Parts: sequence; C-alpha cells; structure tokens
Amino acid sequence: MKFRSIFKLVPNWAVLLATDLRCLLRCSVVCRRIAFQKPSGNSALIVAPHPDDETFGCGGLIRLKSAAGVPVHVVILTDGEAVAVGLGEDPQKVISARKSETLNACQRLGLEADSVSWLHLPDGKMPHPGQPGFAEAARALHAEMELLAPQEVYCPHAQDVHPDHLAATRLTEEAVRLSSRPCSLYYYPVWMWYHASSGLRKRLDTAGAWRLDISAALSAKNHAMAAYLDAPKAPGGKPYCGRLPWSFLQNFRRRYEVYFPATSSYL
Ligand SMILES: [Zn+2]
Repeated sequence: MKFRSIFKLVPNWAVLLATDLRCLLRCSVVCRRIAFQKPSGNSALIVAPHPDDETFGCGGLIRLKSAAGVPVHVVILTDGEAVAVGLGEDPQKVISARKSETLNACQRLGLEADSVSWLHLPDGKMPHPGQPGFAEAARALHAEMELLAPQEVYCPHAQDVHPDHLAATRLTEEAVRLSSRPCSLYYYPVWMWYHASSGLRKRLDTAGAWRLDISAALSAKNHAMAAYLDAPKAPGGKPYCGRLPWSFLQNFRRRYEVYFPATSSYL
C-alpha cells in the first residue's frame, strides 16, 4: 500500500491534531534559540496582505511603538473581499465590514484611522513577479513608502506559503528596492508555523532574527485580535476572518513576536 493510501486511512481529527502540535512545537523550538531585542525608536510601515495580518503578526510591535510615540503606518494590500465567495454575501458589504474591523483593531493598538491605508489589490489573486499588475502594484506601494519615509518596513515571511502572502513579500521587496531612502526590511510569520512543509527548521535562516518581548502590549494585542475574532459574524455565522486553527491563534498569544531580517540583496 502506498504512503498516500495509508494517509487516507488516518482520521481527519488526527491529522488536525498533528498539524496543531507541529505548529506549536515549530514556533517554540525555533524561537527559543532567537535572542530578544529591545524595540527600536524607528518609524515603521507594516505591510499586510489581508485585514488581520497586521494585528496577528505585528500587533505587539505596533502597540509598543505607538505607545512610545513612534510613527507607525499600516498598509493593507487587499480589501479581504475574497471571503464573500464562500459566504455568499455582497462583496461591498464584506469590504465595509472588514474595513471597520481593521480600523477597530488598529485603534486598539494605538493607531489613528489616518495611520491605516488600503491598496485595493485583488484578494486571492495578488500579482506575483512577472505577472500583469505586479510592477504597478509595487509602484503603488513604493509611492506610500516615499510619502511615509519609514525607517523600518515589515512584510510577511516568504515561508508563509499562502500565495497572497508570498506576493506581498515580493511586492514589498520590490518597493523597498525602488525606494530612494534606506530602510530596514523585516519579515513576520503569519501562516509559516502552520502551513510550511516539512523541513522548515532546516530551511529557515534565523541569522539576525530577533524576538520582541511584547508582555507589556499583550492585553492590547489580544483586545485587537478580538476586534476580528469576536466581531459581528457574517451571515452564516462565520467570522469574516474565517474560522482560524487553534494552534495558529495560540502562537500569536505568546509573550513575544519574532522578526527575520531581509537579505541585503533587497536593500
Ligand atoms: Zn493573510
């Protein structure tokens, strides 16, 4: 019997349990070897592919910086409208609901409404390098960077697997490359611990990675996450951010966040 046939005999609950355990273990094992670093006083731009990625991935960092009076701006690349397909709802209603959740979450992290902007790229179909729309999207993000002049830029880690997240990584790298001002580019994990294929720990380059102690910001981050998770549900009873795996959420409730520096070829 082939391995795939044996795998089909494993009950679904066992697969989900194994995935949850792997997700928690990976994060613990990798992160405990990464040193803590104090938050810098540098201004920051957080690039999020979808509404909620900024809060889950960087909520602690946003809160600590904003509480210290350091300028932080969030750019959401898409409106998160793709969930409308599964929910059978009008995309405009979905966009409006998700926008209000994002503004609420960011306010709980200490940001004013004018510190959040959207690029309105197509959710689920974000352009990748070489595809139509990529250069235009990178220029749009670059224009935001020129306007905001952040000293640090944060985008999803390329090991996140999700196609939109990988597109966000490449778009941000390209926008940073186009920028006339020097800045530091960092990657934050969102789906990496849950979705990356086997061998992640060997593949992952942790040189220069750092952990941020977010103990002082954790209650604000949990409150901001609740702006998505406990928001009024879409028709059908699902949250607009979807029903997210337990272990995926637990990793965002840790007392630290982890960031990986970009390779210098993008700077
Ligand atoms: Zn996302």
